[in-house]
Amino acid sequence: AKDAGRNTQRFFDPVMQETVLARAALAAQLRLGLERGELDVYLQPVVDAQGRRVGAEALVRWRHPQRGLVPPAEFIPLAEQNGLIVAVGQQVLETACRQLVAWQADAATRGLTLSVNVSARQFHQGDFVRQVLDTLQRTGADANLLKLELTESLLLGDVDEVVRKMRTLRARGVRFSIDDFGTGYSSLAYLKQLPLDEIKIDRSFIEDVLGDANDASIVQTILLLARSLSLKVVAEGVENALQQDFLVRHGCPYFQGFLWGRPVPASQWAPQAA
Ligand code: C2E
Ligand code: CA
Ligand code: CA
Ligand code: CA
Repeated sequence: AKDAGRNTQRFFDPVMQETVLARAALAAQLRLGLERGELDVYLQPVVDAQGRRVGAEALVRWRHPQRGLVPPAEFIPLAEQNGLIVAVGQQVLETACRQLVAWQADAATRGLTLSVNVSARQFHQGDFVRQVLDTLQRTGADANLLKLELTESLLLGDVDEVVRKMRTLRARGVRFSIDDFGTGYSSLAYLKQLPLDEIKIDRSFIEDVLGDANDASIVQTILLLARSLSLKVVAEGVENALQQDFLVRHGCPYFQGFLWGRPVPASQWAPQAA
């Protein structure tokens, strides 16, 4: 009876109930927002060691009618829980493919690649491969310029299925990159199993790469690992010239971060930063 009492109390906890209601309301608004086209895709540049733009990452934003611009951290986890991520991800992919087509039409942007985040739940959908191929065909985007960013959490599922899906898309030209590399718990064995093109070193290792010897070692090790496996590497969250210099010195070929440009609406994408 004591336990039941405690449970009851917890159930009617006004704070928790407000959270549940707030989450439900936000989910309903997101469902509506999807239909109303309230999702925007921002673009953040990826540059090479000479600072030349080689591509961008597509990052979703929600233009909420009352709350203004909502960052993904405030609705992607929710969308992953309730399954809306599948529709969100599909809209982002569609927008990204249209962006690639627009870039191809202009000599100043032709050949730029675009990276799109794919959540594990979206990837594990039975028709994921068909959705991607349909979207490429419908929009006319060049598959070779599309990169899909996956996280290691994907490998908690059926790895054979993951490999199969990746191979099918890879055969059509689509590239794959592992996002937030170094933060997952999976073994490194998957690196030789998956048809990967690129790994992205998580921002948490770059942040203090000059002040923390452990972070510096980890970054150097990832760079060596990537080179020996013939994978491209992008360092994420590069904010200052000291981090950039360290990375260049250790052979990092590609960079993304506020030093090179914040995510901007597609309309504000400049052909090349000054
Ligand atoms: P992510 O994929 O690791 O994306 C990079 C995040 O780091 C972005 O945050 C970007 O704005 C931020 N960032 C880039 N450079 C710097 C820097 O120099 N310093 C700092 N402090 N931050 C930097 P954002 O746009 O808020 O996205 C957060 C996360 O939301 C993403 O992390 C990704 O996991 C998720 N996300 C964003 N768009 C999508 C999407 O379309 N689909 C899915 N499934 N997830 C998405
Ligand atoms: Ca990403
Ligand atoms: Ca990342
Ligand atoms: Ca992340």
